[in-house]
Amino acid sequence: MHELGIASSLIEIVLDTANANGAKVVRSVTAKIGRLSAVDGEALKFAFDAIKEEYPLIAESVLIIDSVPVTGKCNKCGATDTYDEMFFACSKCGSYEVELITGEELTVSEIEVD
Ligand SMILES: [Zn+2]
Repeated sequence: MHELGIASSLIEIVLDTANANGAKVVRSVTAKIGRLSAVDGEALKFAFDAIKEEYPLIAESVLIIDSVPVTGKCNKCGATDTYDEMFFACSKCGSYEVELITGEELTVSEIEVD
């Protein structure tokens, strides 16, 4: 379960950011997870909840998963599109020469603190 390692990295970022801003309690953490990042949101929440107990600053926080769809731009006709996970073809011209814009994210996008 590689979500455990990802949860530890996310928590490290959250603790650093919260400490740098003098936060007393972290209420929620929003993580942007691209659909191509192959991260299981439920497993990540489970791992986050297991680790957060060790840190009073985030022990009460909730992890919110912001699932980012796979989008891209066609290099042939310039159309932007949303793709399903396995099949990146332009729906306008059928070209496979598409450049991904989103879908590979794995970041903390928001931290709500008191
Ligand atoms: Zn196209």
